[in-house]
Amino acid sequence: MPPKRVIGIDAGGTKLLGGVVDEHLVVHHRVHRRWRGADRAETLRIVVDAVEEIRAAAPDALGVGFGIPSLVDSQRGTSVASVHLPLDDVPFRDLMAERLGLPVWLDNDVNAAVLAEHRHGAARGTSHAVMFALGTGIGGGLVLDGRLYRGATGAAGELGHTVVDIHGPRCPCGGCGCLEVLASGTAIGIAGTEAARAAPRSVLGQRLEADGAVGGSFVTELAHAGDELALEAVAEVGRRLGAGLVSILNILDPEVAVIGGGAVAAGDLLLGPAREVLVAQGLGPPRMRVVPAHFGDESGMLGAALLALDGSA
Ligand SMILES: [Zn+2]
Repeated sequence: MPPKRVIGIDAGGTKLLGGVVDEHLVVHHRVHRRWRGADRAETLRIVVDAVEEIRAAAPDALGVGFGIPSLVDSQRGTSVASVHLPLDDVPFRDLMAERLGLPVWLDNDVNAAVLAEHRHGAARGTSHAVMFALGTGIGGGLVLDGRLYRGATGAAGELGHTVVDIHGPRCPCGGCGCLEVLASGTAIGIAGTEAARAAPRSVLGQRLEADGAVGGSFVTELAHAGDELALEAVAEVGRRLGAGLVSILNILDPEVAVIGGGAVAAGDLLLGPAREVLVAQGLGPPRMRVVPAHFGDESGMLGAALLALDGSA
């Protein structure tokens, strides 16, 4: 009998990644979409279009799992609120089921990602794991006592809105100094831009002069090449991430913190300084491992597929 297959969709803040995923977690057909600035109708249309493209390659798919960057009411299948997509108060599950004519499962994107990492990836074998996805913003997910932890209303695990500096910059959530604005992929670009302004003759400074902006991926590339200003910008963001990890360690005492999202391309240049802060400031003996996501930027898609595989079992 051929393996059971489903469609997994990770709808992130700036892009969608989807694929056909079989029960052995092998991905057979991938699609990508970008949607910066799309309104609600356009965003939903892009999602449907991506699923239809995948479905054409896998007509046997049993259903669709979605991870979306929203507070999700998983009982009702609604997107309650989202900082990154125009999906406030959208009955996402029913709407997609109706448009696609397939069974649909829904959760927060990083809840899905931590599910994949916990069952099959970097947090395998642990009982207590947290995940930070460092991209445009920072998403979070929690596995406690071996189960996804959603809290009283489904809003738990928003680790990106851990406040690490009450005098810090304004966050899209309305607060100030959240980890999201200080330690995301975007924050690496901002730290690089600040360094560039202070040193106009540096490589960073010249890039800022030429392009008018310095992005996180350029700063990371330059850091890997050994540029000292870029290394320091990445390390500073790593130390801020470390401050967030200290809070998580002290509150939850997990065995592992899995770091995913695009910014993890900085590897130990980012995670090394984060671990140093954690060891220096966390209460008790050093114990929580800080590791990159095993599935890279595909943990969200695979976790979304797991929701559908579990649901159609
Ligand atoms: Zn915030």
